[in-house]
Amino acid sequence: MTGTLVVVGLGPGDPCYLTADADDALHGAEAVYGYGPYLQRVPIRSHQVHYPSDNREEGRRAAAAIRHAVRGANVAIVSGGDPGVFAMAAAVCEAIENGPEEWRTLDVAFVPGITAMLAVAARIGAPLGHDFCAISLSDNLKPWPLVERRLDAAAGAGFAIALYNPASRARPRQFGQAIECLRRHLPPTTPVVVGRAVGRPDERVEVTTLDKASAVKADMATLAIVGSRETRVVARPGRHPLVYTPRAAAEISA
Ligand code: SAH
Repeated sequence: MTGTLVVVGLGPGDPCYLTADADDALHGAEAVYGYGPYLQRVPIRSHQVHYPSDNREEGRRAAAAIRHAVRGANVAIVSGGDPGVFAMAAAVCEAIENGPEEWRTLDVAFVPGITAMLAVAARIGAPLGHDFCAISLSDNLKPWPLVERRLDAAAGAGFAIALYNPASRARPRQFGQAIECLRRHLPPTTPVVVGRAVGRPDERVEVTTLDKASAVKADMATLAIVGSRETRVVARPGRHPLVYTPRAAAEISA
């Protein structure tokens, strides 16, 4: 007998961003696995057990949750934001691909959540209003030269770029290095939106430009959106500016 595994996105923070589907999935779970701080956002229901683990434990957490479900329980694994964006959904798929044959028969489902780049974008207008991409600056799972190659390609091709995992205590300089890399392709006045802890009580969102962006403090709770050449800032009296990328784009001049 196998149970079920559901991989649930909690959204960026405030419970108002938790979808009704995610709430249902959490209600139905007997066991909930996740990174400690994310798990703290989930109220413990009666007959439910929580299994917190460390940030870098994604592979082991996925395997533990799968084993638990295969033994017959209804298990949930949570991620902040969306579980498919630099998070647990891929870790679960990897574990199933590499695990015992029996794991492939498990009933597994994925419940989407509002990812950080959409939460930050919504605070300020529409910086992702035209073609965009998302790049994680963490080099825990890929070499840094590959990050730079992708930044070069994305900026050169005219995408607005959402930068996840811009810095951490172990990687204090990577946000600044990424900004320097983008400056080779984009004008100094390119708008940059920096959102920290969006959807949480200590939320902060600021608008700056590419030439000043490396001075902004970025940490693990920060997401930056670097505009394209087309991205515009609309000043408004007495209100924060609107940052948006128009729906139409011209050919890139070489
Ligand atoms: N699955 C998550 C992303 C995990 S990677 C999602 O879909 O949002 C972790 C990175 O996400 C952080 O380093 C930060 O860049 C971003 N992030 C997550 N929550 C955030 C929030 N509330 N405000 C700003 N950035 C956030």
